[in-house]
Amino acid sequence: MRIPERLEQLYAIGGGPGANRPHPSAAENEAHALAAGWMGEAGLKIEVDPDGNLLGRAAGRSDIWVGSHLDTVPQGGRFDGALGVVAGLEAVQSTGCGSVVAFRGEEVGCVGSRALVGRGVALPSVFLELHVEQGPVLEQTGSPLGVVTGIVGYARGELVFDGRAGHAGTTPMDGREDALIRAAEAIVRVRDTARAIDGTVATVGRVEVEPGGVNVIPGRAAISVDARAPDSRRLERLIDAIGFEPTQRVEPVEMNERCRTALREEIGSRGVPVVELPSGAGHDAGILAAAGVPSGMLFVRSLNGGDSHSPDELSSEEDVALAVEVLTASLRRLASASRRKYGRDSPARTEQA
Ligand SMILES: [Zn+2]
Repeated sequence: MRIPERLEQLYAIGGGPGANRPHPSAAENEAHALAAGWMGEAGLKIEVDPDGNLLGRAAGRSDIWVGSHLDTVPQGGRFDGALGVVAGLEAVQSTGCGSVVAFRGEEVGCVGSRALVGRGVALPSVFLELHVEQGPVLEQTGSPLGVVTGIVGYARGELVFDGRAGHAGTTPMDGREDALIRAAEAIVRVRDTARAIDGTVATVGRVEVEPGGVNVIPGRAAISVDARAPDSRRLERLIDAIGFEPTQRVEPVEMNERCRTALREEIGSRGVPVVELPSGAGHDAGILAAAGVPSGMLFVRSLNGGDSHSPDELSSEEDVALAVEVLTASLRRLASASRRKYGRDSPARTEQA
């Protein structure tokens, strides 16, 4: 299999330790040039859009896109993004169907896929993304692959507690109004609230205390809240139950049922357990799905406890090979299904002419 070799070639760009292809950078450009070379060798028609996204079109059904991104966080891993592009190329090359895409700047807010949907051009009719899980769920359940149900949404805000500042030595414990004690109780409540709503998480990552003296009873405490849920209904419930006013909110997006079914059936037909899970991280597939493109995501098991954004990021060659097989079969299935649905003169054929 040439996938591990190609991942190593991409990993070597930009120098170590880890993968260093931030967006924008000469290293990201070099990765795109390398991938364009592979696409050319595979006989694909290469296009670069005005935002630098790279597309390699096969002869048939190039309206179905498969891919991911080639940029990385500083000192990132071998697999994040790169696997989706390299595997997407294998799927497109072996089926002779679809287009493989490498988006720009996913790690800095999905700038490439956002620019694409914002430009008002024709979007793909389907998008499939293979990605490492970047978490421990598949490793813990002993499953090599997972079908993503959706990408979690999040809400962020702050809770502020007032008290009465006072002398730490002369104010008796009875009758104190300690703002930080109130905040501490709220932090525990935030955790318990998320635990009580299935599939949600909530985190307090920042505490600010005033006046902040070691010998002063806190008069004011502010805590940050980051709350995430796999669907809007549960996100709403979580926000209500914690009782904060979000200052920032990004809605969850669901993956397309037809894509999910194709992935599930291709996994199941290989005697592999079918596991479905939400993605706690954002992805290009989430941007396209939110823009109305039927999208599906396949996760590959991350080893090392799900370490990611680090050189310790690891997936096994066997799991990757299985994932490529499932991705390829799903692409073939979606291509033939929608051809039957839309007839021979699909928009893709017009577009290629
Ligand atoms: Zn990624």
